[in-house]
Amino acid sequence: METTPPLSLDALLRAAGARIDPLDARWLLAHAAGQSPGWLFAHATDAAPPGLAARFEALVERRAAGEPVAYLTGRRGFWTLDLAVTPDTLIPRPETELLVELALARLPHAQGVRFADLGTGSGAIALAVARERDDVAVVATDASAAALDVARANAIAHAPGRVEFRHGDWFAPLAGERFDVIASNPPYIAARDAHLQQGDLRFEPSSALASGHDGLDAIRVLVAGAPEHLRAGGWLLLEHGFEQGAEVRALMRGHGFDDIATARDLEQRDRVTLGRIGREAGGAPAAG
Ligand code: GLN
Repeated sequence: METTPPLSLDALLRAAGARIDPLDARWLLAHAAGQSPGWLFAHATDAAPPGLAARFEALVERRAAGEPVAYLTGRRGFWTLDLAVTPDTLIPRPETELLVELALARLPHAQGVRFADLGTGSGAIALAVARERDDVAVVATDASAAALDVARANAIAHAPGRVEFRHGDWFAPLAGERFDVIASNPPYIAARDAHLQQGDLRFEPSSALASGHDGLDAIRVLVAGAPEHLRAGGWLLLEHGFEQGAEVRALMRGHGFDDIATARDLEQRDRVTLGRIGREAGGAPAAG
C-alpha cells in the first residue's frame, strides 16, 4: 500500500502563505512545531513530523478567520520580554516601547523611587521597567482580574517578586500613595471608531481599546487623578491616538502640569504625551 510522503516544512509554509500572511504562517508553524521561527529556516527541507500538518492547518484556519497571531501562539515579544498574552489582555504594541523608554529616562536615580503602570494588561510596561531598574518599586493596576492573572504569570517568568499587582480601576487601588513616575497605555479609541470592527482589534478586549465618544474618557480620569498621586516633580506619561496630542496636552495644562511635550513613535506620529507636576504641587518626596 502506498502512503503519501509527508510534506516538507517549506511546502507547508508555501501552501499556507497563499492564504495568510507568510510571516504569520512562519510564526504559526513554529508554534505548532514547538520551535522558534529561526529554527524553521534551518529545517525547511525536513519532512513534517506526524500530526504537525493537521495542527498547523487548524491554526492557519483560525488566522484566516481573523484571530490575531499572538492569541493563537499565546505569546508576543515586547521590549526584551517574551510575554504570555490571552484574549483578556491587549496585545502589546511596538509603539508602547516608546512609553517605556521615556519613563525610564525620567525615573530618578535615588533611594525609594516608585513607578506605577495603570491598566497593565499583560504587564508589559511594568515588567519592562522592573527588568531595567531593579532599584525601583513597581506597582501595576488593572480593572480586569483575568488580565492580572496573565500579568502575574509574566512576572513570575521575567521579574519574580518585582511588581506589586493591584486589582481595580486606575487610581482606585492606590489611595493615599504617590509615585515618581506614572505611566499608562489606556484605551483611547473612540467608541464608534470603525477600526474596532476591523482586523485584530475585533478580538482584543474592548475595555483595553475603546474609551467613550472621543476616546479620551480614561485619559481624562488619569490626568485628573495623577497630581494627587505624584511626588513633587513627578511625571505622568500617557500613550494616546495619533490625533489626540493637542487634547492631551491641553488636559495636562488644565491640571497644573509643566514641561508638557508629545513624543512621536517610529512612524513619526504623535503617540505619548508627558508632563511634570510642579515641585510645589506634588507631595513631599518622602510620602507614600
Ligand atoms: N494602539 C492601539 C491601536 O490603535 C490601541 C491601544 C489602546 O487603545 N491603548 O490599535
